[in-house]
Amino acid sequence: MTTPAPRPVIASLPRYVPGARGAADGPEPIKLSSNEMPYGPLPSIVSVVEQASGEMHRYPDMMASDVTEAIAKHCGVRPAQVVTGGGSVAVLSHILQAYTGLGDEVMFAWRSFEAYPILTQLVGASPVTVPLDSESRHDLPAMASAVNERTKLIMLCSPNNPTGPTIHLDEFEEFMAAVPQTVLVVLDEAYGEFVRDADTVDGIEALTRHPNLVLLRTFSKAYGLAGLRLGYAVASDEIAANVRTCVTPFSVSGVAQAAGIASLDAKEELLERVEIIVAERHRVADALREQGWTVPDAQGNFVWLGVREGTEALAAAMAGAARPVLVRPFVGHGVRITIGSPEENDALIAALADYPDKA
Ligand code: PMP
Repeated sequence: MTTPAPRPVIASLPRYVPGARGAADGPEPIKLSSNEMPYGPLPSIVSVVEQASGEMHRYPDMMASDVTEAIAKHCGVRPAQVVTGGGSVAVLSHILQAYTGLGDEVMFAWRSFEAYPILTQLVGASPVTVPLDSESRHDLPAMASAVNERTKLIMLCSPNNPTGPTIHLDEFEEFMAAVPQTVLVVLDEAYGEFVRDADTVDGIEALTRHPNLVLLRTFSKAYGLAGLRLGYAVASDEIAANVRTCVTPFSVSGVAQAAGIASLDAKEELLERVEIIVAERHRVADALREQGWTVPDAQGNFVWLGVREGTEALAAAMAGAARPVLVRPFVGHGVRITIGSPEENDALIAALADYPDKA
């Protein structure tokens, strides 16, 4: 039977790998594979969501005006500078649609967030990757010197998913000075709330100096709304307007809009949970280093074990532990492990203690 042929790029793209779910039978696994918060929603947010769900027969506010205003206030910018979408990954795809296409190059460090090469190729642009340095950090001088006349957009990820370190202000400024202003620079701060490295570039502050900068942020991580899909970009009015042209109409549900506003109202309480995760991140990283693992600077809600060709074996051993732990393997590179609740982290530390091939 003849069936319609998709665009050739569709067959060649790597698949976006979802977090492992674990076996249906056997002990309940600890899920440390998707950089989610281990804590469920606050009762105040559940009640707002319940209320908003009563309107599910209606289309939501297409402009998501109230949540956009709340985000703008939270960031200290104007609503015209904010674009919301169904998760920051959707917003990123709209940024790429607005600014890149066939013949353009999109540059990013590698390894970094696995969606970057997929979304780049979907718009017909070509990914250009620059290896991370020996400390799993962005090599910004190498990225700046790889810029050419086809470079249209550069993705920076701080903290870098999956390796953990942030981009520092001084290296960022040097980089921005070297990159032409005709190149759009997207700073992905998905894990920004977890950062405690004081030298890290602050995207909002940097926006005031760089008209070609776009920030990408999400409610999925620190705010614990991964399942509701709400992310946003912050940029100049002009860039924001161009990105808004590409958004899928009504893609942020009324429930997600209400939950976003309620989360910002409950910011203090939610950020207390972030403090717990940060403290646990220090505890886990120290314990693993003591066991003999090499753990790069961890500034997100995860740690990175760059075990290279040992990746699949390590992930399989964790999944097969007495209390199974689901981690995220990146074949050939390493294993990313989300920081969970203190009890989950105890189980993780115990499972890694006996592993023979520590790297
Ligand atoms: N950026 C980075 C660096 C991420 O790790 C993720 C999620 N894993 C995202 C963006 C997308 O998050 P979401 O679509 O849930 O907002």
